[in-house]
Amino acid sequence: MKTDVLVLGAGIVGVSVAIHLVKRGRSVVLVDRQGAGEGTSFGNAGLIQREGVAPHLFPQNLPALLNYARNQSTTMRFQWRALPQISRFLAQYWWASRASSYRAIVEDYSKFIAHAVSEHAPLIEEAGAADLIGKAGWMQAYRSDESYRAAREQAESFERFGLDHEALDADALRLREPGVTAELAGAIHWTQPWTVRDPLALTQAYLRLFQSLGGQLVTGDAMTLRSVAGRWEVDGAHGAMSAREAVIALGPWSDQMLRKLGRRLPLGVKRGYHMHYAPRGNVGITMPIYDEAGFLLAPMNRGIRLSTGAEFALLDAPPNLAQLDAAERIAAVSYPLGERLDPSPWMGARPCTPDMKPIIGPEGREGLWLALGHAHHGLTLGPATGRLLADMMTNQAPFIDPTPYSVTRFD
Ligand SMILES: Cc1cc2nc3c(=O)[nH]c(=O)nc-3n(C[C@H](O)[C@H](O)[C@H](O)COP(=O)(O)OP(=O)(O)OC[C@H]3O[C@@H](n4cnc5c(N)ncnc54)[C@H](O)[C@@H]3O)c2cc1C
Repeated sequence: MKTDVLVLGAGIVGVSVAIHLVKRGRSVVLVDRQGAGEGTSFGNAGLIQREGVAPHLFPQNLPALLNYARNQSTTMRFQWRALPQISRFLAQYWWASRASSYRAIVEDYSKFIAHAVSEHAPLIEEAGAADLIGKAGWMQAYRSDESYRAAREQAESFERFGLDHEALDADALRLREPGVTAELAGAIHWTQPWTVRDPLALTQAYLRLFQSLGGQLVTGDAMTLRSVAGRWEVDGAHGAMSAREAVIALGPWSDQMLRKLGRRLPLGVKRGYHMHYAPRGNVGITMPIYDEAGFLLAPMNRGIRLSTGAEFALLDAPPNLAQLDAAERIAAVSYPLGERLDPSPWMGARPCTPDMKPIIGPEGREGLWLALGHAHHGLTLGPATGRLLADMMTNQAPFIDPTPYSVTRFD
């Protein structure tokens, strides 16, 4: 089979890239070893984080580092055995998080994430997926007066990025979310982000849009990618497929692919878990709530989804449910959570770069392109990434400056 472009990986990022390419007249085959959206894009918290101008940094102050070093925190854990292999990634992540470099990262990132909702909106409409979307925003809740005050100050400082928020003190929060029994000092309600009640269903709806525009999804193994006579070839279920161009959008598996091609980048993963719960009684929560105790609760079609914070670990190491169990113990007494709804917890891995920015653009080899490393914001930035990469691949003026996302920054 011959086509113009092979997009490897049918997560939210690959599907979004594929849509933008077919819309520009390219013939596109999406390749995945499973169904669209069944990788990391299956299990996220469903936030389209318009407000996420400041990507998650590596803690810099000593008390926070010492706390994390105990490896008991709900927010962040690590796998001891992985440390030798991930130490280079962690060191570079810590280095990029210093105030001086982090400021520049936020300046770049804020210009990209500003397009998060506006790039999803037309796709949601064309895909007929409006019933999956909430437009009421989401909340970050704080347990101490001190952290609530700091969050208010930060939210006010983000007004310069065009971000709106509402600060809710304890009483206002109780009125807004009567089911919450936690002793909370207050919350920041971000009003502009959208939320998704079933992230898998959204990626599947985008896939159907791609197919209705003439694109195809083929089962295949991306790891068979090879260059043959100036074209890129990969093995599919019904034989080899070849194209002038190929896009690596394999989420956390992109690193394996790049290593196989002889390119070593300082990539890492932050694993995360989720579990669904029935609402307790007849009250649930009206919108996603992040609790600074280190977890996020989101009302989904399936129930209330609790998603955990970061676990630095090897991609394929067995799950460690301690972080989820710890989050569940706190959440169960603070929020209206009933019984568990899933037979076992879901685990995924946020695909991370050390400087917290995705890699979008040419790989360096003729016809090979990259769309990976979206960390905490792959759902948020999938469609914006699709537009940016398609702009570059079709020689159109990119809608934002792509320089901060070039892989050459790691050379
Ligand atoms: C707990 C948790 C909560 C999160 N919450 C949010 C959130 O609220 N908002 C947000 O924006 N982001 C969130 N994220 C991050 C987001 O889910 C990811 O950034 C995003 O899903 C990455 O998408 P992707 O398309 O790059 O990767 P994936 O969705 O992982 O897609 C990669 C695809 O590649 C395929 N693949 C891998 N290897 C091969 C192979 N050899 N051959 C063929 N196919 C292959 C996989 O099957 C998969 O379908 C969260 C992540 C986690 C873990």
